[in-house]
Amino acid sequence: MSQDKQTNTLPTVLIVDDTEEIRRLVRIGLKSSGYNTVEASSGPEALFVIETVRPDIMVLDVMMPQMTGFEVLREMKLRFPDLDIPVIMLTAKTETDDKVEGFEAGAQDYMTKPFEPRELAARVKVLLRARQERERLRAAAEGLEALSTTDELTGLHNRRHLMSRVSEAIAEHIRHGGPVSLLLFDIDRFKSVNDTYGHVAGDDLLRELADLLRPNIRQEDVLARYGGEEFVMLLPSTPVESAVVMAERVRELVAMHEFQCDGNPLRITVSIGVAGLPGDTVRTAEEFIAMADKRLYLAKHLGRNRVIGPEPPASTESSAA
Ligand code: GH3
Ligand code: MG
Ligand code: MG
Repeated sequence: MSQDKQTNTLPTVLIVDDTEEIRRLVRIGLKSSGYNTVEASSGPEALFVIETVRPDIMVLDVMMPQMTGFEVLREMKLRFPDLDIPVIMLTAKTETDDKVEGFEAGAQDYMTKPFEPRELAARVKVLLRARQERERLRAAAEGLEALSTTDELTGLHNRRHLMSRVSEAIAEHIRHGGPVSLLLFDIDRFKSVNDTYGHVAGDDLLRELADLLRPNIRQEDVLARYGGEEFVMLLPSTPVESAVVMAERVRELVAMHEFQCDGNPLRITVSIGVAGLPGDTVRTAEEFIAMADKRLYLAKHLGRNRVIGPEPPASTESSAA
């Protein structure tokens, strides 16, 4: 199994040289050391192969018509900045200036012609090992990043991630003036769920609520567990009137859903406070949340299972024909 994987994933070396004979010598040397090879005879062709084949490493000639190796390197960094393709310059030149230019353009190593194929294969191996290590570190960093932004219980975003996204959204609003809104909601009488069914069942219910809400947000929205049984939905580019409509939809979705609590069907409700920019004069993420929290508090006070936005609550509206 692991052997199959190994043969399928032999590293691919892109050999770029305008001289067929050089390409042949490099190819023979590398193939006998267990590498796949692809070839290009010019800079433009090399860039095409990089885009389509995504080689693991490149052996690159300097002096070529159309484009020099330096130009290929610079163009590659420009067009594919995220690709990690180590480059060994292969050059007839021994001038220090050329080596310096190669390194400055992003090459990791160089060899001068005539070259010793076994030495080239050894240098390829070293650079691939370093690349593998970079990949491992990158994956580990990504894993840590995901852990540090995720709420362990529900898999939603955590408070820390939320606060930085709210700050970004406020900064975006200040720069470009677009709207941004925020829903803060809290489960009504959740303590009695814990008291009746136990804390573990309460946790299950929080997860079920997260699963209910998750499919109902857009890609750009941020849904986070803010605290124990408090959640926040950040809605970038959404005016507060639309956010109130969204909040009402969330409130209804929760109220209509039959939760399972320790094997028993259970109905719960949420109260929601909504704040939005422009309109609310808040300057920090904390102030934004506090504004929504004030309205959430009012929603609780007025009897729960309701949404309160910047407008006065519906009960104070004068009846219109
Ligand atoms: P209301 O919000 O309607 O005023 O009443 P409540 O009963 O929900 O009151 P409050 O928000 O003050 O209390 C929250 C309760 O939620 C306290 C605690 O029992 C429970 N809780 C908080 N975090 C968790 C958690 O992570 N897991 C579980 N199972 N329960 C939690
Ligand atoms: Mg609470
Ligand atoms: Mg509560």
